[in-house]
Formats: sequence, C-alpha cells, structure tokens
Amino acid sequence: MKLVRFGTGGAEKPGIITADGRIRDVSSHVADYDHAFFSAGGIQRLHAIAADCDTLPSVSPSVRIGPPIGRPRNVFAIGLNYGDHAKETGVAIPVEPILFMKATSAICGPHDPILIPRGSKKTDWEVELAIIIGSDARYLDSKAAARGVIAGFCLANDVSEREFQIERGGQWSKGKSSANFLPLGPWLVTADELADPQSLGLTLDVNGIRRQTGNTSSMIFDVWHIVHYLSQFFLLEAGDVVLTGTPPGVGMGRKPPEYLKAGDVVTLGADGLGSQTSLCQQA
Ligand code: ZN
Repeated sequence: MKLVRFGTGGAEKPGIITADGRIRDVSSHVADYDHAFFSAGGIQRLHAIAADCDTLPSVSPSVRIGPPIGRPRNVFAIGLNYGDHAKETGVAIPVEPILFMKATSAICGPHDPILIPRGSKKTDWEVELAIIIGSDARYLDSKAAARGVIAGFCLANDVSEREFQIERGGQWSKGKSSANFLPLGPWLVTADELADPQSLGLTLDVNGIRRQTGNTSSMIFDVWHIVHYLSQFFLLEAGDVVLTGTPPGVGMGRKPPEYLKAGDVVTLGADGLGSQTSLCQQA
C-alpha cells in the first residue's frame, strides 16, 4: 500500500495511491498519518479501507503532494553509511552507525522548492532511503525484532549545507536542518509491499545530469541493524523518520566541489519509492 498526503502545506489530507495510480482521499476515515495513527494499528485499518477503494473520493492528479507523514516527533539520520561515499568524503569506514539529528521543521513535500539558506555557498544534495517507524520501540533485542517496528519506507533528500555542517564548529545539525532541507515522499510504501529494502537503486540528477547512482545493497549497516541500534539509545516513536545515508556522488565529493544555486533543478528517485523534482530558490 502507498500512503500519500495532499493539499496545501500544513493542511494536507491523507490518501492512498490505488493500483490504477490514482490518489484516493481517506480523510473521512483517518485524521492523519501521525503518531496516533501508526501506534493505533492504522496501517491494518487502512488495508481494510483500501480493499473497498471505489467508495473513496478520487483526487485531482494536479494536487500538491506533501510529505507522506504528519510532523514526526524525531528525525534520526545516519551519516557515511555507504563505503564508497565515506571514501569520497575522505573519512574511515565507521565501526558504529554515525548518528545525527535533523530538525523536524526541515520536512517539506517532495516537489517543494529547496530553499538555499541566506549566506550559503555550499548547499548539497543526498538521495536516501528513509525508514518510517510504525510503533514505539525501546531496547529491541534483535535485528529480527526491528522488522516488526518498521511501518514502511519513503524517498528522501537529506539536503546539507557543508560549511554550516563541517566548518562552523559543533555538530552537523545546523548544516542539516534549514527549512525545506528534507523533501520526503512522494509516498510511503508499507513494509509488506517492499520486498527487499536492501536492493533498491537510487539516483539523483542536477539539471538533468546524473550525479548520484547507488544501491541500498551497498549500505554498511542495513535498515534492521540501524533500527535495532537506535533503539538501544532512544525511545523510537511511531511516525519517526530514520534516514539511512547516501551513496557517492554528492557535490562536496566532486573535484572541484559543486553546490546548488537558485534555479537549479534536483531530481531524485528510488526503485518502488517514486521520484522528487525540486527547484532551488534563495531563502
Ligand atoms: Zn545523509
């Protein structure tokens, strides 16, 4: 099943994408795809609603698509999780997942503009697989247990300002959290429908030129390892987002480095997760 949210930013309604590719409005059954929805078994309920989808109102295909979940409580992110990307940034392969937090206010829709922060000279791109947590979890006792707390997956762009992230002291968070630095979607595919999250091709183009090509099979730590690992340190909450790292080809790794500017168009995609197209604008 594919979950979408559509409509004006901040007032999106929940929907599903049916087999015919149409968006159907489920807002008469479901308030939103948020902590309450996931923790009350909302996906199971939605499966039952989707089974009778002809009764659901159809939505115009030209509607704005929002992020596929309501504002989560946490966005966790793993850095340098592809060996070839770690190499291009000049650092050693990590022995434990490298964790940072991204502000939840950075989330935007998959085709919303990427806003280049004021004073930025080094705004960069990162195509990623995002995990959506399906139930609260702490101290999971195995990777197998992690499977049971994943609601699904979606496409993400972990937009990053490298000067703010690396050259301005402190943690990575301030280079990762500017408004519209986390386009999510277009849809959340439920875990039952994505046969193998560790064999997904990922691509990212800037102005039609391929910059990133990767496959989630190259992750150092797989999605179940990451969720199990995080649960040893945090209370994971239903609806949380976990970014799993980016394959090689980011702007920082190019020689010379290349960064985004107003007017650039960033297009990214992943097998089974759809695609995003974002215009870069000055904030
Ligand atoms: Zn990243």
